[in-house]
Amino acid sequence: MADTTHSALAPTYDPLPITIARAHGTHVWDTDGNEFLDFLSGYSALNFGHLHQGLIAAAMTQLRQVTLTSRAFDHDRLEEFAQRLVDVVGPLTTGGEDSLVVPMNTGAEAVETAIKAVRKWGYDVRGVPEDTATIVVAEGNFHGRTTTLAGLSDDPATRDGFGPFAPGFRRVPFGDLEAVADAVDETTVAVLMEPVQGEAGVLLPPDEFWPGLRELTAEKNIALVADEIQSGLGRTGSTLACELWDVQPDLVCLGKALGGGIVPVSAVVGKPEILGILTPGTHGSTFGGNPLACAVGIAALDLLSTGQYQARAAESGKLLRARLDELVERGLLTSARTVGLWAGIDMDPALGTGRDLCLALLERGVLAKDSHGATIRLSPPLSIVQPELEMALDIVEESLVALRDGDGADAGDTAAEDVAEDVADDEGNAAAEDVANDDASTAAADDEAEPADSEEPAEPADQTADAADEDAAPETPAADEASDDAPAVDPEEAPAADKADKADATSDVDDDDKKDDAAKGTDDRSELSPTAG
Ligand SMILES: *Cc1c(COP(=O)(O)O)cnc(C)c1O
Repeated sequence: MADTTHSALAPTYDPLPITIARAHGTHVWDTDGNEFLDFLSGYSALNFGHLHQGLIAAAMTQLRQVTLTSRAFDHDRLEEFAQRLVDVVGPLTTGGEDSLVVPMNTGAEAVETAIKAVRKWGYDVRGVPEDTATIVVAEGNFHGRTTTLAGLSDDPATRDGFGPFAPGFRRVPFGDLEAVADAVDETTVAVLMEPVQGEAGVLLPPDEFWPGLRELTAEKNIALVADEIQSGLGRTGSTLACELWDVQPDLVCLGKALGGGIVPVSAVVGKPEILGILTPGTHGSTFGGNPLACAVGIAALDLLSTGQYQARAAESGKLLRARLDELVERGLLTSARTVGLWAGIDMDPALGTGRDLCLALLERGVLAKDSHGATIRLSPPLSIVQPELEMALDIVEESLVALRDGDGADAGDTAAEDVAEDVADDEGNAAAEDVANDDASTAAADDEAEPADSEEPAEPADQTADAADEDAAPETPAADEASDDAPAVDPEEAPAADKADKADATSDVDDDDKKDDAAKGTDDRSELSPTAG
């Protein structure tokens, strides 16, 4: 364990007490060799799991060629990366196959890029008077940590003490179409929002919200910008979360998983009329679009282009949802929202804080992170196999029971022992397969199902085999089949609660008492996840 009393780090984070030394697929190991299932996945930067074989190979190859040129010179991976991005994401935007790409590094830079582009487009094309452009954003948003983006936030921790902030932004309740309509005027150049708010606790807007936004912005010639940095690239069961509502934004901000968990890679993709406004000298980045980033980005997009990860997220998401619904029914959670393989769960604050639950999970071998208060986000790698998911959800259940019964530290012995067994068995497997991707997951899955059989990886459970096949050979017919069969939307999971939700979602936001309303909104929106399953 790290000696936190003598840290040289500025205290910008309060990490859980684990020091990670190694990772593989869905698993990480601490410095003492204890094994954990990663249910945060670097806030979705690790959608493909740790050390994905194909991504590592692409990075290694590029590391021996050229890693940085700056944009003063072209390099031989840059156009290929942009084209790949247009192939995979372009058609999901109004830019279609003519979409343009601005490559950047971090998510925050991608959002900043989008803001610059829509402002300049507003002045040059729309004729908005210089320095008066406004952009509508949502309450509860998280777009990054720059001073401008901190200014968009209504979270005091993100915001307080960092002003003065950039003007030109109007914040309205997330999911409230009327409020957006009221906020826009002739100075409004864009509406910038996360399709599903990640940091806020995986909050889904009412189903009519994004289609309504699309209609409103198209009618008024306002750019619709989707921050898909966390929600995009497979997490929700589709390439973009906007697909859940059949909405094409004008610009999409991507990041996190685009870098495959290896290097920071971000980009803005979309409408050429807007991004084409950024002429030489108006925007740039020393590292943006560097050869190593492009090589990894291309490999990540290759993984996404088969649709298998999206299908897996949709499929595994059904199990995630069913198990969490059960915990809500049993009163162990006050609410749970899921979309694809992404969940925000709310504890009864009487049981403890979100951090208490994360500590209980850590003790039992699952890594997760509270987003705020009693809300925790679950976002395992999309490559997770069903038995691992079951095991982790068993641990969530045990941890909640332990907190309820007031013996958080002791009640988890059974789960802890299971995980300990996995550690012992997996260590051998993982060591033997240094480069083989996600095979450690397979072994863990076997262990869980039948500990005695853990030495027979040749006969894994069906789902395990599927997942292993997908990762090892992304284009096997079996994998294709799976991707075709997996519905992006599970009709059975669509609750008939839409009407009530609509009413609540528009009525529950009150500027005067944001905190209470945020909590209430969370509960109300817990049933707003029907589209995704
Ligand atoms: C993480 C995140 C960002 C910021 O990305 P960084 O790479 O941390 O700068 C922006 N928007 C959303 C929705 C995010 O989840």
